[in-house]
Amino acid sequence: MATTVENQVASNAKVLHSYLGGKWQTGAERGVPLVDPCDGTMLAWASSKGLDLKAALDYSRNVGGLELQKFSYAQRAELLGKIADLLATRREEWYEIARKNSGNTKADAAIDVDGSIGTIRYFAKIGTKLGDAHMLRDGAPIRLARDQNFQGLHIGVPLDGVAVHINAFNFPAWGLWEKAAVSLLAGVPVLAKPATSTAWLAQEMVAAVIEAGILPPGALSILCGPPNDLLDHLRLGDAVAFTGSAETGAGIRQHPRIQQGVRVNIEADSLNAALLGPDTALGSPSFDFFVREVVREMTTKTGQKCTAIRRVLVPAERAAAATDAIAAALSKVVVGNPANPAVTMGPLVNMAQRRSVEEGIRKLREQAQMAYQTESLAPVDASAEQGAFVPPTLLKLNRSAGDIVHELEVFGPVATVVPYRDKQDAFALARRGGGSLAASVFSSDTAFLSEAASALGTTHGRVLLVDPAIGDSHTGHGIVLPSLLHGGPGRAGGGEELGGLHGLWFYHQRVAVQGSAATLSALSAQAADPSAE
Ligand code: NAP
Repeated sequence: MATTVENQVASNAKVLHSYLGGKWQTGAERGVPLVDPCDGTMLAWASSKGLDLKAALDYSRNVGGLELQKFSYAQRAELLGKIADLLATRREEWYEIARKNSGNTKADAAIDVDGSIGTIRYFAKIGTKLGDAHMLRDGAPIRLARDQNFQGLHIGVPLDGVAVHINAFNFPAWGLWEKAAVSLLAGVPVLAKPATSTAWLAQEMVAAVIEAGILPPGALSILCGPPNDLLDHLRLGDAVAFTGSAETGAGIRQHPRIQQGVRVNIEADSLNAALLGPDTALGSPSFDFFVREVVREMTTKTGQKCTAIRRVLVPAERAAAATDAIAAALSKVVVGNPANPAVTMGPLVNMAQRRSVEEGIRKLREQAQMAYQTESLAPVDASAEQGAFVPPTLLKLNRSAGDIVHELEVFGPVATVVPYRDKQDAFALARRGGGSLAASVFSSDTAFLSEAASALGTTHGRVLLVDPAIGDSHTGHGIVLPSLLHGGPGRAGGGEELGGLHGLWFYHQRVAVQGSAATLSALSAQAADPSAE
């Protein structure tokens, strides 16, 4: 890899280069360190200082965009298939980076890595049905006036700018590809900006794809290091897809370029709830499925999932039993260095996150009681002091207690049991998250489950209804599927991603076209209908 910017990076340190303007570039200073969260060992540096991001965006638009638009949807879907095949051959390398830089167990890494490959494959498959088209249509031509020859048609034209994808630290692989797959299929070039603290995996995956020469020039770029003035150079026709904290998301919304109309999708944080139905007796299948899911959500990726269960809503009369059952399951979690296969939960991503989670627990405790936490954490093959370890922590709210559990996202293996009086109270409590990504409801009463779907629908992006028939077969509360919408209202950002080919619309301008029946019929025939089976 060549460097084009003069830099003072130490020759013995691993440097994460950025791929911008069709070449590998390096920032001017050592920049931000990437560490192993088990012991703080320095793994790499990422710097974006001095990189010409205006030129990078221009190149993506002027070269990548034009090149990608020469391909039809089906041809671009074929490129996605090649990317998925390539990434799949190097799975073990990706797992290893995820273990070192994110503290992932193999199961955690698989959610990120295999989830990303599966998502690319999914879009490779469903993209082929769009065939030779270069634009979309939404429905059929409709008559607009007395003269039935005068008609209207909605079409979608791919954006002529660049898609800037800003991602969170917790899913460096999936976050990259769940956005890039849709954008590339749409024909819109990607400039990915992974979170700096875990950018290594994203950078290696992009490097593999670039080196394999699968994509045309300019179709895929990556910026490793802080965003600097990236957003200042956006213009009409570009799109920003952001995933991260509500705070950063709010700042991006305020950016002058966004205020001036550059399209944005925000996926932010969320206080997701799991709800145990009023009918579920202790020891019933629904009760057991509920407990298992809460524990899985608290500990998978050490609770660092935007969709993870933070609020555990249970009937007041069964709050003690549910708390005991969850605590008993949490006591079996083995915390430590994920290099040891006996470990079932690794560290948080770094010490800053550990401090943030510890502070979050302290704040929750101002209103909730500690229900379960290992007294003295002794992580396997690691030091409790030097590693970013936090034990699984369950709190319990008294019915009369305050608001913080509905307001504070503690991004770690932490959840709070919240007792409810009756189903209306349960729905009201779930809605107090202020807009969430996901809720799951466990019951064998199908009428109650249907009622929950509509009661929670206005404040949730996804609702998982678990009756015993799917207790063992559902994909999980926190798992985002490429065929379903991902996103949530309010605090969760108000965005929508994925949802099968529906996701393509974010990268297209929808246009209402008026004309004669013959003209619109010809236009319609050239466009593909993403909603058609
Ligand atoms: P973050 O601090 O908000 O950072 C997210 C991304 O934004 C990073 O790439 C960061 O770059 C970048 N960024 C920071 N300031 C920026 C600015 N002024 N302009 C443009 N980009 C900027 O979030 P995080 O700590 O990485 O991720 C954890 C949060 O993400 C949690 O709250 C979690 O709930 C949320 N999350 C949401 C979803 C979802 O789908 N809704 C999925 C995953 C995570 P640097 O790293 O270089 O600072």
